[in-house]
Amino acid sequence: MVMDWQIYVRVTKVHGLRRYSNARGSGFIFKVNLMDNSGEIVLMGFDEVAQQFASIFLEDACYKISDCRINIQRCGLYTAIDHKHELVLEFFTQISPIAAFQPKFTPRLTLIKEIPNLSNDILFINTIGIISDAEDPFIYSAKSGRQTLRRNIKLVDRSGYPVWLAVYGNQASEISDAVLNEQVILIKDVKIVRFGENKFNLHMWFQTSIMLIEPSGKKAEDLRVWWKAERNNERQRLMIGHDSIDPETHQTNSTPATLVTESFVQVEERISSCIAKGSKGEEYFNLIAVATIIKRENVIYAGCPVLLCRKKVTEITQPTSSGNQPRLGYFCRNCNETYNHFKYGFAVKLFLKDYSGGRWVTIFNDAAEEFLGQSPDELIKLREDLSGFDFEHVMNKNLFKRYVFRLKSYVSNFFEDHRIEYNVISLTKPEPRSISYGLIKEILTLEST
Ligand SMILES: [Zn+2]
Repeated sequence: MVMDWQIYVRVTKVHGLRRYSNARGSGFIFKVNLMDNSGEIVLMGFDEVAQQFASIFLEDACYKISDCRINIQRCGLYTAIDHKHELVLEFFTQISPIAAFQPKFTPRLTLIKEIPNLSNDILFINTIGIISDAEDPFIYSAKSGRQTLRRNIKLVDRSGYPVWLAVYGNQASEISDAVLNEQVILIKDVKIVRFGENKFNLHMWFQTSIMLIEPSGKKAEDLRVWWKAERNNERQRLMIGHDSIDPETHQTNSTPATLVTESFVQVEERISSCIAKGSKGEEYFNLIAVATIIKRENVIYAGCPVLLCRKKVTEITQPTSSGNQPRLGYFCRNCNETYNHFKYGFAVKLFLKDYSGGRWVTIFNDAAEEFLGQSPDELIKLREDLSGFDFEHVMNKNLFKRYVFRLKSYVSNFFEDHRIEYNVISLTKPEPRSISYGLIKEILTLEST
């Protein structure tokens, strides 16, 4: 169908001349994307016509075009351009360059959040996001055997959803590290690759997808503003350990507490400078370490039965004429009381090693019970067993396992000398997220000083 009409358009993409072959034979195909103030349309040419016109069209140049065939869009599967028709070049098509203009048309941009809800027939979309992360580039072997540079970059948009985007060839090298500096990119005709339920990523499609780095326009500007605010919130959240909102469920996501850890060497530097200023060197800190040695001697002591005290008690006896030594009770110096019974307690010496070195520490009662997995009374029974097998098992089973130890330091004076000693207050299994948040917090603190 040929009609008497003309359009004034800007070329937004030249797909270049390509050879095709199918059951009916082989030939050439040529395709450009056109835009005016009302929208976008695809213009195609085949075989001789394609060869004739291929070199005329330049990207971002503007043309007056008339006398094309108008078809129902067939290549709709392969583009996000939303138009019922497509234009097909004929020998008599008239094309003339005109002064460049910027059409006032914004293509529909799909939010990353909306992608899972799109019909599976939709293969290509336009979207805009900010680069939040990137993997290193690598050589990718396509199914055809062709090798090309590939780089996976992570985009996030205002919906808060992230998506990985695969970028190939020249574009992958264009996305240099400089570009990765939280820049906005607008991608047109990017392919959705779905795998598994609700899982997908995006791929720049050979000769089809368009990538605009740091585009102008309101959408890009809004995204930059949003990202900046989001980054500030994130900083604040990390600094004060606040809850976050899960972008998928919109539920409050209780972030594990931010855990700042130190090493023995760091702590001792700190304590030494405190002592120099006259402090008693009492510091509390967290340490990721493994216990490498556990002492077997004097693990259990007779302690004060008062739960809040639990200090060592002394047995009080009084000799009688018969030679028996009847007990009078157990004296606690801390409470200044004599009790008629006592409670076993733990005071276990552990050698803890972190990446900076090792120190002897003492672990008491509840923390020791947590570490050994037994109460003092249970351990006494095991120790009385002559084989000693179970006792050894309990003592050894948590050696060389990573824990987060919360320690308290104090300084003991030995004549003129002073020594830093450590008690374990508590221990927990390492929680990677808390530790990561702690590291990020440290980085942010360093950044701001
Ligand atoms: Zn007591």
